[in-house]
Amino acid sequence: EFIKDTTVVVFGASGDLAKKKTFPALFGLFREGYLDPSTKIIGYARSDLSLEDLHARIEPHLGKPNGSHDDSKVKQFFQMISYIHGPYDTSEGFDKLKTHIETLEKSSKVTQSHRLFYLALPPSVFLTVATNIKKILYDPNGITRVVVEKPFGHDLASARELQNNLAPLFREEELFRIDHYLGKELVKNLLVLRFGNQFLNASWNKENLQSIQISFKEPFGTEGRGGYFDSIGIIRDVMQNHLLQILTLLAMERPASFDPESIRDEKVKVLKCMAPIDHDDILVGQYTKSKDGSKPAYLDDDTVKPGSKCITFAALGFKIQNERWEGVPIMMRAGKALNEGKVEIRLQYKAVASGVFNNIPNNELVIRVQPDPAVYMKFNAKTPGLSNATQVTDLDLTYSSRYKDFWIPEAYEVLIRDVLLGNHSNFVRDDELDVSWKLFTPLLEYLEGPNAPNPELYPYGARGPDGLIDYLTKHNYVLQSMGNSYTWPITKPE
Ligand code: NAP
Ligand code: NAP
Repeated sequence: EFIKDTTVVVFGASGDLAKKKTFPALFGLFREGYLDPSTKIIGYARSDLSLEDLHARIEPHLGKPNGSHDDSKVKQFFQMISYIHGPYDTSEGFDKLKTHIETLEKSSKVTQSHRLFYLALPPSVFLTVATNIKKILYDPNGITRVVVEKPFGHDLASARELQNNLAPLFREEELFRIDHYLGKELVKNLLVLRFGNQFLNASWNKENLQSIQISFKEPFGTEGRGGYFDSIGIIRDVMQNHLLQILTLLAMERPASFDPESIRDEKVKVLKCMAPIDHDDILVGQYTKSKDGSKPAYLDDDTVKPGSKCITFAALGFKIQNERWEGVPIMMRAGKALNEGKVEIRLQYKAVASGVFNNIPNNELVIRVQPDPAVYMKFNAKTPGLSNATQVTDLDLTYSSRYKDFWIPEAYEVLIRDVLLGNHSNFVRDDELDVSWKLFTPLLEYLEGPNAPNPELYPYGARGPDGLIDYLTKHNYVLQSMGNSYTWPITKPE
C-alpha cells in the first residue's frame, strides 16, 4: 500500500530522538520501498540549522542493520527533507511552516492533505506545540495524525491533565502514542504465537503454567544521565509502559478480530483485572560500584541527588484476577547495570505428575525479544543413543538462522509505517493509559513517599540484588539451570 504526498513534520528535528530514531526510521522505510518518494519531510526546531547541518547530524545514524550505507538512497532521501526554524510558543514560525506546507502540497497538486506531525520534543513544550498545530496547521478537510512520545505523564493526575488538555485539540483517532516496544518483531508476534498455535493456546492458563517472568536487563548504568533518571526511576522508565505492554499482550483474551479497537479493548479489559501491586511483594534495588571497582555506583553520578533512594532495579509481582490467571504469579523485573543486556519473556510450565518421571525438569517457553530474537521451548527428550536417560533440549526458532535474508524492521520503522496507514493497533489508547497509571501510581507513591523501603544494594554487573533468587522461588519459579546439564547448543555427553 503506497501513500502519496504525505507531509511529515518533525518537531524537535535538532534533537536526539529525531536524529537517532525518527529520521533513520523514515529513511529505513524509504530504503526498503515503504515510504513513497513523493513524501515531504519537514524538520522544525528553534536551532538555526542549515540543511547541511541537519544532514550531518542524521547521516551517521542511517546505516543498514549490517552497518553498510547506501549513498544514492541517502542522497534521494535528503532531497525529500527541508528545515524551518522558529519558536514553539508563538505563531511566527508556525505561519512560515503553514505557507511552506501549502506550497509543497500545491506543487504536488494534492487534493486532500495528509499531514503527520511528529512531536520529538520534551514534554514541557509538548502542549504548546500541539495547541499551535491545531490553531495554525490543522486542515479540517484533510487527514491529520499526531505522534506523541513518552512520557505520557508522571502519574495518574499528570497523565489525566495531559489527556484533558489534548482531547479538545485532537480526536483520539488522530493521536498516536508511541510505545516503541509495540513495534518490536517479537512483541508483534505475541498474538500470533498465542492464538495461532493450538498447543500454546490450549496451555496458556493457570492449569498449565506455574510462573511467568518478563525481564528487562541493561548492562550499563546511568553514566552521566542520572539527573534525568533520578526523578523517573526504573518503573516509569520501562515497566509502567514497555513491560506492561508485553504483559498485557501475554495475558489478554483473544480479540474478536485484528481490528485495532478489538485488540485495544481486550488490553484494557485484562488491565482492569489486575490487582493492586502488593507493596510487600516487590524487590527494589540500586547499584553500587562493580566488584572490581572499575564501574561506578549510581550515587557516584554527579547528576544524581546525593543520597538518592532512586531505584535502578525492581521486581514486581502481578496478580490477574480472572478465570485464566487466578493464582499464577507473574513477575516483572527490570534493572540497570546488570550482568547482560536482554529482554525476555519466560513461561514455566507445571511439572508432570510424579511417578514414571520424577524430578524431570519443567518445560519452559522463552520468547527473547532482544538481542538476537528467538523463541524456544525447553522440553525433555531421551538422550540419543542407547541411553534411556532424559535430557532437556529445545524446540528452537532463532530468527538469525531461520530467517536469514529477511529484513526485520526497527520498531520505529514499523510504527511510523502504521501511522502513515492510520493503523492504531500498536499504539496506546487513552483509556489504556489511564488504567495503567491507576495500577502503578499507588506503588510509585509508596516508593517515593516517607515510608519507602531502602533499595537493596547490588554491585554493578550483578544479575540483580541477592534477594532475587528467593524472590523467583517465592513466585513459583523453579530454578533449573544450576546443576542441570542443559546447554545451548546441546553438547554430546562425555
Ligand atoms: P531533546 O533532544 O532534549 O529535545 C528535542 C529538541 O527539543 C531539542 O533539540 C531542542 O530543539 C528542543 N528543546 C529541548 N529542550 C527544550 C526546552 N526546554 N524548551 C523548548 N525546546 C526544547 O529530546 P529527545 O531526546 O529528542 O526526546 C524527545 C522526546 O522523545 C521526549 O519526550 C523524550 O522523552 C522522548 N523519547 C526520547 C528517546 C531518545 O532516545 N532520545 C527515547 C524515547 C522517548 P531546539 O532547541 O532546536 O528547538
Ligand atoms: P537459564 O540460564 O537456565 O536461566 C533461566 C532463568 O533462571 C532466567 O530467568 C535466569 O535469570 C534465572 N537464573 C539463572 N541463574 C540464576 C541465579 N543464579 N540467580 C537468579 N536467577 C537465575 O536460561 P535458559 O533458558 O536455560 O538458557 C540457557 C542459555 O542457553 C542462555 O544463555 C540462553 O540464551 C541459551 N539459549 C539460547 C537459545 C537461542 O539462542 N535460540 C535457545 C536456548 C537456549 P537471567 O535471565 O537473569 O539470567
